[in-house]
Amino acid sequence: MAQSFAGPPVDLDDLIPELASLGRRTTLLLPKSGAPGVRESSLGGPMLWPADEPWPYCGQPGHWAWPNEKSPAGTAPMVPVVQLFARDVPQLKFPQGTDVLQLVWCALIHPQDPAGAALPRLYWRREEEVLAGGVLRDIPAPQQGEYDEDFMPRPCTVSPTQVVEYPNWDFSEDLRQTLQPRIEELEERFGLDYTQWACALQNKVGGYPAWNQPPNWPVCERGHRMEHLLSITGEADLDMDMGDLGGIYVFLCRQCPELPYAHRYDC
Ligand SMILES: [Zn+2]
Ligand SMILES: [Zn+2]
Repeated sequence: MAQSFAGPPVDLDDLIPELASLGRRTTLLLPKSGAPGVRESSLGGPMLWPADEPWPYCGQPGHWAWPNEKSPAGTAPMVPVVQLFARDVPQLKFPQGTDVLQLVWCALIHPQDPAGAALPRLYWRREEEVLAGGVLRDIPAPQQGEYDEDFMPRPCTVSPTQVVEYPNWDFSEDLRQTLQPRIEELEERFGLDYTQWACALQNKVGGYPAWNQPPNWPVCERGHRMEHLLSITGEADLDMDMGDLGGIYVFLCRQCPELPYAHRYDC
């Protein structure tokens, strides 16, 4: 089970004001196994996909599913990972004219990718427009050998819940040294790891990536540091194990009109 996220055990404004000022709003998705509908926000659920737009496939040479490392899968359909409607995540700023966010990935292992895992693709849509043009009825499902269990999300409904998060690793070295003793004191006093109350390694939108490794923020081609859009982690209800990965973080550059995005794996 994902650890519940209770937020700071004390009022940070009093105790660690430097940290309090870095708080960012985050929406935890809190997935539960279920049967979400095509017009519902979900993880691993059916997607509101335009009938006249081909479903995405991945043909990366050499991608494979355990234990068939020596026999790559060929071209395989990608799988639905996240669908979010603006009405369910009011805190997320949707690009003008859109109100649906969709993320798919290839559920195979990718030896050409530094971390060897899923290759997310992000889509922004307008619900009304997709409904007017017709919804794709049969989303192709990968067959045996075309997906790896570790990256295959099961259908889950979500219960978006807003919390405030604080950076896990994203401090300057000076600030880290200043805060360290007070953070450790709190950890001891409440028997809670910093990450349990400050930054959630969970399926979430916004906030801070819960880096297990030192931060590795992507920069777009024009040199803008991207923002953290969402995190996908293998929580128990998602029935997805993600191998040794802590999570897949998706980042977005809003300064560029084409909204480039990038991902990072973390283990
Ligand atoms: Zn692939
Ligand atoms: Zn940019």
